[in-house]
Amino acid sequence: MSSATINAGTSTKVGHVLEISGLRAGVSGKEILRGIDLTVRSGEVHAVMGPNGSGKSTLAHVLMGRPGYEVLGGSATLDGVDLLGLEPWQRAQAGLFLALQYPTEVPGVSLHALLESAARAAGRDVVAVDAEIRAEVERLALEPRLVDRPLNVDLSGGEKKKNETLQLGVLRPAIALLDELDSGLDIDALRACARRVEAATEEVGLGVLAITHYSRLLHELRADRVHVLAKGQFVRSGGPELALELEEHGYGGMLGAELAGEAETGQPVSIRPPIDDPFGGPGSPAGPADPFADPLA
Ligand code: ADP
Ligand code: MG
Repeated sequence: MSSATINAGTSTKVGHVLEISGLRAGVSGKEILRGIDLTVRSGEVHAVMGPNGSGKSTLAHVLMGRPGYEVLGGSATLDGVDLLGLEPWQRAQAGLFLALQYPTEVPGVSLHALLESAARAAGRDVVAVDAEIRAEVERLALEPRLVDRPLNVDLSGGEKKKNETLQLGVLRPAIALLDELDSGLDIDALRACARRVEAATEEVGLGVLAITHYSRLLHELRADRVHVLAKGQFVRSGGPELALELEEHGYGGMLGAELAGEAETGQPVSIRPPIDDPFGGPGSPAGPADPFADPLA
């Protein structure tokens, strides 16, 4: 949303703030995030853009608490609550939401059942939530029967991203992290999802950190600030014009070859959650897979 709209305020005035300060994090001794400072307030949209491997998904995962990442320094708070000491579900209850770059398939659990459980856990009226789910299905032009099918199983990339957006609409988080919400979407689905998120910034004062490669997402979801991430640090921050500048010149043109180059890849290290992690992990023979895992990795 535009700054003018923020200043005008909305009928549901809220004042949440995600504050990230000097955040450093890595995997298996490899430092990926090297000092991130960012403040996202209710109603604001912050776009994070950056070359492949610059640490964008790592930032989203570390904030949401994916097992296996080590926080090496700094802090992240939501309304003053230290997020980094919480389990992922506690971060969700504190008001943080993550739309995954690669939404996870959950056989046996429908989107409807998932949202009803979340509503019950939050002490919300389940009948009212049912009505909200139906309203969101219409807003997003989602095939209604998909709500009762196993979550994300055998869905197209676009349908999965609509599922993520629908959850955001019903759960009404304070701050949403969107990791490439636009990837895999056709033009109509992109518009529907981006408009839905933009409306949430205005209707309920949602604050957004939107990771994207393309300024087209920002045509509908209007960024107040754009930050360029390279090698784990923000190297440029500016207004929405920065996204257009990037589109014109590319990362190489803006940052120079060294910063724009893919971070050294090396052999990926599998993320193994701590022993007491309730989800188990890729390395644990009995447990289910890491719920955040990128299935294409
Ligand atoms: P982006 O989302 O910006 O493309 P990522 O945050 O996914 O980048 O990755 C940033 C860097 O961290 C990359 O160099 C990637 O290879 C590395 N990385 C991410 N996860 C792991 C991991 N589990 N083990 C080793 N390196 C990783
Ligand atoms: Mg990524």
